[in-house]
Amino acid sequence: MEPGWVWLCGAGPGDPGLLTLHALNALRQADVVIFDALVQEAILDWAPQAEHIYAGKRGGKPSAKQRDISLRLVDLARAGKRVLRLKGGDPFVFGRGGEEAQTLVQHNVPVRIIPGISAGIGGLAYAGIPVTHRDVNQSVTFVTGHDQSGAAPSSLDWASISKGSQVLVIYMGMKHAAQIAGHLMDAGRQPSEPVAVVTSATTADQRVLETTLGSLVADIEATGMEPPAIICVGQSVLMRQVLDWQGMMAGDAPRNLDPLGRGLPAESA
Ligand code: SAH
Repeated sequence: MEPGWVWLCGAGPGDPGLLTLHALNALRQADVVIFDALVQEAILDWAPQAEHIYAGKRGGKPSAKQRDISLRLVDLARAGKRVLRLKGGDPFVFGRGGEEAQTLVQHNVPVRIIPGISAGIGGLAYAGIPVTHRDVNQSVTFVTGHDQSGAAPSSLDWASISKGSQVLVIYMGMKHAAQIAGHLMDAGRQPSEPVAVVTSATTADQRVLETTLGSLVADIEATGMEPPAIICVGQSVLMRQVLDWQGMMAGDAPRNLDPLGRGLPAESA
């Protein structure tokens, strides 16, 4: 890292093993690390030499503070620091990384972007859910469950999403789960459609709920699951019955070798 630069870097969904080598390199060299709420403390242990600044905000609280964070990055870079801006998941996926990078460029601060593993992909993989599978989907839609004001996003065309997207991966969807499920069912998705909720994915606290669109809200309440959560809607969720690899590591047998009913390979039939 050069003094005066900002590296805007994804930390992945939680498990420190999911950092990139570029992220690790930056952690070892940075003078200052500005990190978000969703960045696991253990990751900061890789940067003992650096000043650690918490810039967390949770739950869709708006932009005055965001502007402060961006300007703080500018000030630190101008002071000649090697600045590591560490964000959960991927910095350009629902993480305001684009806004921060834009502010840096507007202030002539040199910036490097390091992608990370987004929770909507890596978090689901840790639950044994592939975001694409040839027998299920040729597309996947990443959706945010709330907009800048914190309300359920009204600018989204839920009818089109319902019709056009076989699998939905919803970030920040817990607060408005009832409205989201309602929109999808109003637009024709079946109450019986499989849904998974994965909270604190890839961490020691990971929990997975398998439910349906019709039972989503009641089951979230019954299980007391809390954000951060990824909600996945679609047949891909069934793949967990065969691909719950963490369960298998703990000794569970796969529940169903062929959850999509496509037939087993001849040699294992
Ligand atoms: N840039 C991040 C997303 C930031 S928005 C990324 O690419 O993953 C914050 C939302 O991300 C949370 O509300 C939640 O929906 C999701 N999220 C982030 N980390 C998560 C985790 N470990 N488990 C489940 N959801 C997570």
